Amino acid sequence: MARAGLSVVLLERGEFPGAKNIFGGVLYRKQLEDIVPEFWKEKGFPMERHIVEQRIWMMGKESVVTFGHRNEAYKQPYNCFTGLRVKFDQWFADKAVQAGAIPVYQTVATDVIREGSRVVGVKTDRADGDLYANVVVIADGVNSLLGKALGIHKEWRPDEVSLAVKEVIALPKEKIEDRFNLEGDEGVTIEFMGETTLGMAGMGFLYTNKETLSLGVGVMVDQLREKKVKPYALLEAAKQHPMIRKLIQGGETLEYSGHLIPEGGYHSIPPLSGDGWCVVGDAAQLVNFVHREGTNLAMTSGRFAGEAIVEAKGRGDYSRASLQSYDRKIRSSFIEADLKKYKGMHQLLKEQDPELLFDKLPHALNEAAYQLFLVDGLSKAQKQKTAIKLIKDAAGGTVNLLKLGYKGWRAMNG
Ligand SMILES: Cc1cc2nc3c(=O)[nH]c(=O)nc-3n(C[C@H](O)[C@H](O)[C@H](O)COP(=O)(O)OP(=O)(O)OC[C@H]3O[C@@H](n4cnc5c(N)ncnc54)[C@H](O)[C@@H]3O)c2cc1C
Repeated sequence: MARAGLSVVLLERGEFPGAKNIFGGVLYRKQLEDIVPEFWKEKGFPMERHIVEQRIWMMGKESVVTFGHRNEAYKQPYNCFTGLRVKFDQWFADKAVQAGAIPVYQTVATDVIREGSRVVGVKTDRADGDLYANVVVIADGVNSLLGKALGIHKEWRPDEVSLAVKEVIALPKEKIEDRFNLEGDEGVTIEFMGETTLGMAGMGFLYTNKETLSLGVGVMVDQLREKKVKPYALLEAAKQHPMIRKLIQGGETLEYSGHLIPEGGYHSIPPLSGDGWCVVGDAAQLVNFVHREGTNLAMTSGRFAGEAIVEAKGRGDYSRASLQSYDRKIRSSFIEADLKKYKGMHQLLKEQDPELLFDKLPHALNEAAYQLFLVDGLSKAQKQKTAIKLIKDAAGGTVNLLKLGYKGWRAMNG
């Protein structure tokens, strides 16, 4: 919007952008490139490591079954990379400021100002801090105060959000490169499930940065409450797991933080625009939790909102009908397609016993793998039979296993 010559104010409650923000750490090249072309060529771009390998770990008690992919092709161009919000957000916000946006930090937007059904600005916590605008872009994250003020955003139900806790652990660069088999700026991501979430629906992550590791665990809030588990205890338990302990050992915890992640999926998306407003990113539940993608949906929805507002300015019309071009951009993009594809996931996780998916099956898979790889004099046919039986028993029999497979397939395919 600033590039197109519109007058833009960037409100941020933190001391500076990124001061209060946390995420796991993976950012995506394509969606950032759409906003800042060739950003990676810029000196001082705050990338930690570009990712050449992504691992998925199913954890047993002291074991792991691994899936994953490593490819030199991810080097040129990058596919995704790790970052730290405290650095990245400042760099990103400065791009807007360089284009002409006016930064107003340490300022909380507390309410929307309306004229009839139209939003005409926001109230802030500054004295005489009312700010008027043709359009307000609501981008205030998962707890969206403005969304609540507008009535499009409710207090999320505990089954629509997960609580993630994260530590940043310092480790010498050479140790990271040795332990993860990396050269230069290469990086690895690990997502893990099973043992480490104590039978609750959730995942953990371990990402490599330049001289730190980002380690976190996120679990659905309803299940944390039901089991009365403190998220920090989950992270502590993950750190003791032999597969993780050996990767982080000798590291020093630099920071600890916790944050909600919107995981309601497609059915939780609120109305996206109205007279004088658009809502983007986490405030609009635009998170693809199956692929841990949130930042790219936030950036792209922000870009779409900006483009729609520039078009609306051209028409001199900021009404709901005019701003609905924002909705259309979302609806015809990967954002809608991906969230729709997984629209059944939330319901599946709600209906299915979390212990089965996040505890019994990962453990059975580990036991089956253990038996298959163990050379103990039993025939390979016997081993295969034992492995299959372990998985079937964990699911409560063949029929249940097939039903679960069918439900899973449906939930993942719209
Ligand atoms: C632990 C964790 C791990 C994650 N890992 C990943 C990952 O690896 N990859 C990925 O793509 N996504 C990840 N996500 C999701 C991703 O962080 C979010 O989807 C993304 O940050 C959403 O961006 P946003 O701009 O909508 O909201 P936010 O990043 O939350 O930004 C909102 C901004 O608004 C400010 N603000 C809030 N309220 C007000 C107010 N009233 N007035 C003024 N300012 C206000 C905040 O200070 C903040 O700067 C993770 C999230 C968490 C919590």
